[in-house]
Amino acid sequence: MDFRDSPHEAAFRGEARAFLDAYAPARLPDYADQSVDQEQVLVQARGWQRTLFDHGWGSITWPLECGGRGLGPIEQIIWNQELTRVGFGESHFLQGLGLAGPTIIAHGTEAQKARFLEPILRADEIWCQLFSEPGAGSDLANLSTRAEKSGDEWIITGQKTWCSGGHYSDWGILLARSDFTLPKHRGITYFLVDMHAPGIEVRPLRQLDGTTHFNEVFLNEVRVPDANRLGPEGQGWQVTMTTLMHERMAIGGLERLLSIDSLLEHARANPQRVDDVMRDEIGRLYSWVKALELLNARVITKLGRGEIPDAESSMLKVAIARMLTKSGDIGLRLCGPEAMLRLGPWQNQFLTAPTLHVAGGTDEIQKNVCAERVLGLPREPRSDRDVPFDQLPKG
Ligand SMILES: Cc1cc2nc3c(=O)[nH]c(=O)nc-3n(C[C@H](O)[C@H](O)[C@H](O)COP(=O)(O)OP(=O)(O)OC[C@H]3O[C@@H](n4cnc5c(N)ncnc54)[C@H](O)[C@@H]3O)c2cc1C
Repeated sequence: MDFRDSPHEAAFRGEARAFLDAYAPARLPDYADQSVDQEQVLVQARGWQRTLFDHGWGSITWPLECGGRGLGPIEQIIWNQELTRVGFGESHFLQGLGLAGPTIIAHGTEAQKARFLEPILRADEIWCQLFSEPGAGSDLANLSTRAEKSGDEWIITGQKTWCSGGHYSDWGILLARSDFTLPKHRGITYFLVDMHAPGIEVRPLRQLDGTTHFNEVFLNEVRVPDANRLGPEGQGWQVTMTTLMHERMAIGGLERLLSIDSLLEHARANPQRVDDVMRDEIGRLYSWVKALELLNARVITKLGRGEIPDAESSMLKVAIARMLTKSGDIGLRLCGPEAMLRLGPWQNQFLTAPTLHVAGGTDEIQKNVCAERVLGLPREPRSDRDVPFDQLPKG
């Protein structure tokens, strides 16, 4: 493991830092902070992404010819670290920049690249992900939204759920089943769908903290031009693998969450609430975070060698979700009775950190990865792989 930046990485970090010190607004929009006006946050976020685009920082990893900086995952991690340093949280544009864009770059036609990429980089168009359904989450290939060909269009009908940001998105990446007679991974086609098209109904889901992050999306005979099919008909699963790999990298940019500094500051500001039990809990969490930093360094070292750190990333994700849930719990207790009166950052973390146990692959699915790839345990039996979808028992 190597903890130091190479000369090239140090130079990139210096460049990123100089840019951010010169251009980052004093208060950067924080997507995760539900305590502030979300419409205002979105306006600010678009403005900031446009500034990044104008100065050539719209995307670190997209190729140069697609408007990105053409750099690798290590530079992305350094960029994330520098963004964290200036207080930048998660972005509204994760689905566009991190999922839709890279998938269009890998599988899109030249016309699709020309139409969709620049508006993503400039934040002119916001994207969402329409993958999960009530019967298809961890087992995504079980999806049953129907796509029927009609001339040079597709007619799509079905229900999607847990669609983050669907209520302010312009476009969605969508999976639908175009052939029900094939085994479940083989009859899926991948589409780019206009969220303003007739037949799309977006129903926001109200969360525990009173805000809306997710939506149910109903598609009722939505017409999608064949020109907006991404990749060959029936080969949507292969295209999806590209999206999911990038999703892992985008969500896997978790090191920005790996900090206990704000909790320590909060504890120092409220010494009257730090009893021996809490001191012990914070100390335990601190040593946990230090161990995770080492695991993260292993992930970064592997990426630097051009390897894919899948098992390490799975362990890291499970551990960071646990760490954030715990620090949200301690942070809330440090607020004392005041925690009940308003929605602030600690209340927000307490209520939303648990979602990380599910988003981007649940804890159990990550543990399955560790069981198979670290412990060498037998693979999960998959008896439904070769059965035509329309012959599978429906639960
Ligand atoms: C914050 C957040 C944002 C999200 N954003 C989006 C989005 O924008 N677009 C989108 O399409 N989806 C989104 N999702 C949905 C997410 O991808 C799914 O929630 C996830 O894939 C799990 O699916 P599920 O909720 O249907 O749970 P299920 O897959 O039904 O799982 C239920 C339980 O069973 C367990 N389980 C399932 N299979 C196994 C197995 N093989 N072995 C052991 N245990 C198992 C799970 O771990 C879980 O505890 C988001 C979710 C969250 C929390």
